[in-house]
Amino acid sequence: MSIPNTIAGAARALRDGSVTAVDLLESVLERAHLTEAQLHAYLNIDRDGARAAAEAADADLAAGNDRGPLHGIPIALKDNMCTRGLETTAASQILAGYVPPYDATVVTSLREAGAVIVGKTNLDEFAMGSSTENSAYGPSFNPWDITRVPGGSSGGSAAAVAAGSAFGALGSDTGGSIRQPASLTGTVGVKPTYGTVSRYGLIAFASSLDQIGPITRTVEDAALLLQAIWGHDPKDATSYPGPYPDPAASLGAGVDGLRIGVVTELAGEGYEPAVESAVADMVAKLQEEGATVVEVSLPSFEIALSAYYLIAPAEASSNLARFDGVRYGLRVDGETTEEMMARTRGQGFGPEVIRRVLLGTYALSAGYYDAFYGQAQRVRAAIRADVARVFGEVDVLVSPTSPTVAFSAGARVDDPLAMYLSDICTIPSNLSGDPAMSVPIGLDEQGLPIGFQVMAPSLGEETMFRVAAEVERLAGFDARPEIPVVAG
Ligand code: GLN
Repeated sequence: MSIPNTIAGAARALRDGSVTAVDLLESVLERAHLTEAQLHAYLNIDRDGARAAAEAADADLAAGNDRGPLHGIPIALKDNMCTRGLETTAASQILAGYVPPYDATVVTSLREAGAVIVGKTNLDEFAMGSSTENSAYGPSFNPWDITRVPGGSSGGSAAAVAAGSAFGALGSDTGGSIRQPASLTGTVGVKPTYGTVSRYGLIAFASSLDQIGPITRTVEDAALLLQAIWGHDPKDATSYPGPYPDPAASLGAGVDGLRIGVVTELAGEGYEPAVESAVADMVAKLQEEGATVVEVSLPSFEIALSAYYLIAPAEASSNLARFDGVRYGLRVDGETTEEMMARTRGQGFGPEVIRRVLLGTYALSAGYYDAFYGQAQRVRAAIRADVARVFGEVDVLVSPTSPTVAFSAGARVDDPLAMYLSDICTIPSNLSGDPAMSVPIGLDEQGLPIGFQVMAPSLGEETMFRVAAEVERLAGFDARPEIPVVAG
């Protein structure tokens, strides 16, 4: 029996009877058994729950109750999405032992689609970070080189997909946390249009930026997973009512006649030469396939990172106020309620989370509000205006996803600014609300993956996936990491 590599392939094999959902799950659990000691992609593998779900999926399929392409497929979830009966920590001490009484809407959608939830993956605490080193439960590592980071904050999800210990995974992307780890692990990662995937049951970081999306091995798989999780949800006040685009409608249509904008500001100093040349080669190939390539300038992109590091911490400082030791999670007692809250938060939050809460509280405080938060909101408006202008001239924008390949574990932990710069290419789409995705296009001379970013206007997922599929075809990237195997 050969186990397919992709969701689409596994879906076909399930239907022609060559594999069962239990086989797919066992293959994933075996990979996890062989690689988790090196990668630490998962915080918690739900072996029993997953086995029961896989058996139910097989029984359902045998009874002719076909729930579509995710039926019987093992999927991993970033541990900031609430799962009923399954511990959900956001990789924070403050939520250690928290077992949600409800499922996030994306989890309900996956269960209804017949997906098998393998477990919860590691992340930077509350999704704040770019390396998964800010997890309170220890870092994850990159399957391509276990001395390097898998990116973050959805690093566990990306590492699991790259390693084969899940067929696909969900991540969340506030400033790049799906796309940057996808880029660093040679996987496909999509941040859909803001509002298209429900945030109900996602532990909030910065609510005006947070978006859940898929991490998979192929562009087609990403479209399948996205279709299973998006759609209007009355439980999320920012949910988009529809109509929704069809991300799979134009896969294989090529790029002939499309206008592709290369972003001037997302190149130059700080970008590794191997990344820049791989991206330039891909742009040349797209042009050979009939796309019109133009260079476009979006000056506001230069200040997007600074605006993000005011807006995201400001929202986080408000969202994280609920973790006070009163109703759930960690409680460290004190003489007074105030002392209890202060001790709980002081001990429950890690240093990066505390830094963000301090930054955000400062940016929102009376007297500084307009100079910091207000100014950042004006930058956000300028980004929206810049993007609206160029999307009148081009169909998609392209750039590297990350200025560098995977960096060494520890290299940026003591330098928050260097860590923040990892997201220089991904943050603009969060501030504008537009969709963007990363597609692997090759390896550098050290054998580390390079990601190509495609950005589209809001609800432009059909064109974005069309371009991404062509990038994937032209790159012909199908390498798999060789992970030194130690039974764990
Ligand atoms: N790395 C960015 C940050 O630390 C983005 C995180 C994210 O998208 N969740 O805020």
